[in-house]
Amino acid sequence: MNPPVRVLYLAGSGRSGSTLVTTVLGQYAGVFAAGELRYLWQRGEVENRPCGCGLPLRDCPLWGEVRQDLPTDRAAAIAAGLRGRLRMRGLPALLRRHRRGRRPVPAHPDDAALADLYTAVARHTGARVVVDSSKLPPYGALVGALPGIELRVLHLVRDPRATAFSWRRRRGLDGDTDPELMSRPPVWKAALLWLVWNTVTVRLWGDAPTGYLRVRYEDLTADPEPTLRRILGFAGVDADGGPFTGPATVRLAPTHSVAGNPSRHRTGPVPVTADVQWRRDLSRWSYALVTGLTAVGLRRFGYPWRRGGPAAAGGSAGSGRSAAGRSVAVGQEEG
Ligand SMILES: [Zn+2]
Repeated sequence: MNPPVRVLYLAGSGRSGSTLVTTVLGQYAGVFAAGELRYLWQRGEVENRPCGCGLPLRDCPLWGEVRQDLPTDRAAAIAAGLRGRLRMRGLPALLRRHRRGRRPVPAHPDDAALADLYTAVARHTGARVVVDSSKLPPYGALVGALPGIELRVLHLVRDPRATAFSWRRRRGLDGDTDPELMSRPPVWKAALLWLVWNTVTVRLWGDAPTGYLRVRYEDLTADPEPTLRRILGFAGVDADGGPFTGPATVRLAPTHSVAGNPSRHRTGPVPVTADVQWRRDLSRWSYALVTGLTAVGLRRFGYPWRRGGPAAAGGSAGSGRSAAGRSVAVGQEEG
């Protein structure tokens, strides 16, 4: 019996800093930044989109090795199966099963291939921790129930007014030259998605005594290296070495991450600083709309209602379950 594969699953809403966190984590020994593995089958295998290293996925030597262990001829069917199993309308039933102590996402014949993906990644990279930044809570619940996986959930939360602003930016799926754009939901929808995914993340894992860590983007950008150390400690990884060249600067080498925000292709010196353009440029109407729709979550995660200075570190304004200060947040405008 092989030891389980430890997966650090980045859960929560989109545009919460997960791409930078994943890339930075991938610079430490023993950590493999896999990116958004739920998209491996469609965007990686079927569409052959670029790996983090810049090569089309099927030309990347590392993924070439991993793919030999996978049923790549069935990638399109596996991708379609995942989409069907992870639909938003299945959420009430998923939470009901979770409450009753049952497997949140029912077993499926493709689960063997999904489990093989994580095993193969760990084997071919030699990593002790595989970082999966898929974010979608139902997929995290699915992965956590796969055989041979030890799931640790890093819940990244960012001010919903900032994520709504970020969602509206026009960006190519794989960089500025990509004609296929990242999705751009209207602000009301971005706000509701933020509330749903962050609430569901807390419902699924917030009570886990050891398997859940919440980090706010704003706290991470305020205090980057100590926050990264907390995340590494939670993942069970030695924080020695690493990419920090200054308190808020990292030197990034290319990763082999799949899908995710185009910023995953950035290399060289990168500042880890808060992107606060939204404070100035988000319209009053949008600000009020997002604030109203996410009021419950703002309180839970310790964000102020008024547009002002940054929220106090620690995220305790609304109490909520911030798991004994295990709450922390990452920089750049993000995915
Ligand atoms: Zn690669």
